[in-house]
Amino acid sequence: MTNVIKGLHHVTSMAADANVNNSFFTKTLGLRRVKKTVNFDAPEVYHLYYGDENGTPGSVMTYFPFGRMPKGQRGNGEVGITEFAVPQGALGYWKKRLIAQGVSGLAESSFLGESRLEFDGPDGDSFALVEADLAGRTPWTGAGIAADNGILGFHGARVRLRDAAATGELLSFMGYQKDESDGNITRYRVEGGNAADTIDLEKLPDAPVARQGAGSVHHIAFSVEDRAAQAEIRKALMDTGYQVTPVIDRDYFYAIYFRTPGGVLFEIATNEPGFDRDEDTAHLGEALKLPTRYEPYRKQIEQILPDIAA
Ligand code: ZN
Repeated sequence: MTNVIKGLHHVTSMAADANVNNSFFTKTLGLRRVKKTVNFDAPEVYHLYYGDENGTPGSVMTYFPFGRMPKGQRGNGEVGITEFAVPQGALGYWKKRLIAQGVSGLAESSFLGESRLEFDGPDGDSFALVEADLAGRTPWTGAGIAADNGILGFHGARVRLRDAAATGELLSFMGYQKDESDGNITRYRVEGGNAADTIDLEKLPDAPVARQGAGSVHHIAFSVEDRAAQAEIRKALMDTGYQVTPVIDRDYFYAIYFRTPGGVLFEIATNEPGFDRDEDTAHLGEALKLPTRYEPYRKQIEQILPDIAA
């Protein structure tokens, strides 16, 4: 077991239309677009990052909008619900706001003593807003949303699995502690983290295997402070038998990836260097930033990418 994991770092999903995606996250949810760049493996596809003012690790939802892409089919072996935290008492505001903006799939419930509001993203993505304590975080007040209601960052993620046992063991190895259960869902929580600290494992023995597409989570990334902490957990995972990628420079963090026993792709990402590495905090996400190797092709790439609103 290790204690270098500090909670979630980012969640990366796939979308169809870049403008619809941008509008939903910046206007409906009021997050800040903190980076406009492209997919490292497909530079004709945007990689859009949304989060709080600085893109604090634990707040960053990222998307690859692939254009015309069939919707994913929900099932086992994926992140079923991505959960954002909002201040206590904020759900009434959000319910009204999401109804007014025509958001579908709204469902209020209580789970493990927390009030939550589930809703769908534009591609059928599954989200929840969960009322939580501030825990040192500052609500982000984009799109006219008051601090009393603003999104704090992630609460956690609900992972759907045919059999949760092996993934539970992996989370324990990563420093998570088994917490409460309700029905077929068991919560794991990491202590001393960034408050994006829960992973819920939902066991669905009879559900089909998920098919990835628009609205599906591609991977979830866990936060480590720096490259030394990342090297430590990489070695520990490999010593345990996991196939882990070499360290990959993602410009705004360093990443390693590995496939979990339940089929979900996990990443471990460093908090360094952060999104202000190549632009001022005041202007994050405004200009198109390209990985160095694509800079010579900027003109062609700019012609292919659709324009998206500021
Ligand atoms: Zn990632």
